[in-house]
Amino acid sequence: MKGQKHIALLGATGSIGLQTLDIIRRFPERYKATVLTAGSKVDKLIELCREFKPRCAVIAREDLLPRLKFELEPLGIECLAGDNALADCVCHDDIDIAVTATVGYSGLAPTLRAIECGKDIALANKETLVVAGELVKKRLAGSSSRIFPVDSEHSAIAQCLAGEDSSMVERLLITASGGPFRTWEPEQIANACAADALRHPNWNMGQKITVDSASMLNKAFEIIEAHYLFDIEPERIEAVVHPQSIIHSMVEFKDGAVKAQLGMPDMRLPIAYAIGEHHRLPAAAKTMRIEDFCKLTFEKPDYTRFPCLGFAAMALKERGNTACVINAANEIAVAAFLRGEIKFGDIYKTIAHTLEHSDFIPAPDYSDYVASNAEARAKASELISKLQPSCC
Ligand code: NAD
Ligand code: MG
Repeated sequence: MKGQKHIALLGATGSIGLQTLDIIRRFPERYKATVLTAGSKVDKLIELCREFKPRCAVIAREDLLPRLKFELEPLGIECLAGDNALADCVCHDDIDIAVTATVGYSGLAPTLRAIECGKDIALANKETLVVAGELVKKRLAGSSSRIFPVDSEHSAIAQCLAGEDSSMVERLLITASGGPFRTWEPEQIANACAADALRHPNWNMGQKITVDSASMLNKAFEIIEAHYLFDIEPERIEAVVHPQSIIHSMVEFKDGAVKAQLGMPDMRLPIAYAIGEHHRLPAAAKTMRIEDFCKLTFEKPDYTRFPCLGFAAMALKERGNTACVINAANEIAVAAFLRGEIKFGDIYKTIAHTLEHSDFIPAPDYSDYVASNAEARAKASELISKLQPSCC
């Protein structure tokens, strides 16, 4: 690994973004934040740029560019805005690795650009692989770029696979906390409010992934993500509920051995492992004392109370644009749920309805994904406009 690595951090103002900056702040001899980007939190982006002094700052919302320029150009920081700038900023000669920590579909274009120009990627944005896993794999095959997973489960699997023969893998066991509704009755879940869904038992994350954890669609997405990252058939990837979130995932081998990676629920460990190209960084995250945990428990996931889990098997069987449609409908539904416009149970219904009314594209290219994403969003929005608002 070279001396100081230059990072393009996409989504710097979010949960993963700020934790990545915590690592960069504590290890300045190893890492430099060279590009910082944000969606719309311009004040936070300005504050971060004042501290980290990147070469370039990019904001998704073009109307916020004048403010960004006014504050940062006097400091010699180049300021850009819009989707093209967000994608292109990863390709500058000085960038060694792009950390994709934006939320949702917005991660796809910058990831594809990074692959195009042979940059390494620390991938937090799982939606990239959910939406277009096949395309990403195809593009990776012709590129020198590598993907290092940031998602804690996939980092755990990568750690368990280190030094192993991948042909000896029997199953990947992706652990799930079960979310805030793990013990709730179906009716309570269907009518849950945003405040309930945002009360994650173990992790403090952005709002969208927190709601996805409550519906367990996040786990379905992680099964899809694991399939594309580790080339394991979907039938050999399973979710296991582990409410303590201490085991971050496991690999079962053909000789009967099961390897697990344990640690406190602290994303700084998988972030450091990813940007360090799978080398460990001392004191990256909180240390764990295993003797403080009297019990680590496991349960089978309940596909009836959490029907979104079933979308993983469906998407990996049907392929094509199925997962792209699921993701788009979910993004629209989660945003509506957070605004109090629909009930929690309507998230599943919106995805199922959108799938039913979307055209299937068996072998999508990039433009097909763009069109399918836009179409599914419009269909999901149309359905939501007819639903009853939540009573929260
Ligand atoms: P967040 O909502 O806290 O932050 C999202 C970031 O993306 C912000 O900086 C925001 O300004 C930016 N952004 C939002 N919309 C954008 C757009 N359209 N264009 C450009 N930038 C945009 O989200 P998060 O919790 O940090 O999650 C980021 C990604 O990491 C998600 O894909 C999530 O699934 C994944 N992830 C998060 C965690 C976690 O602990 N937070 C764990 C595993 C994986
Ligand atoms: Mg995860």
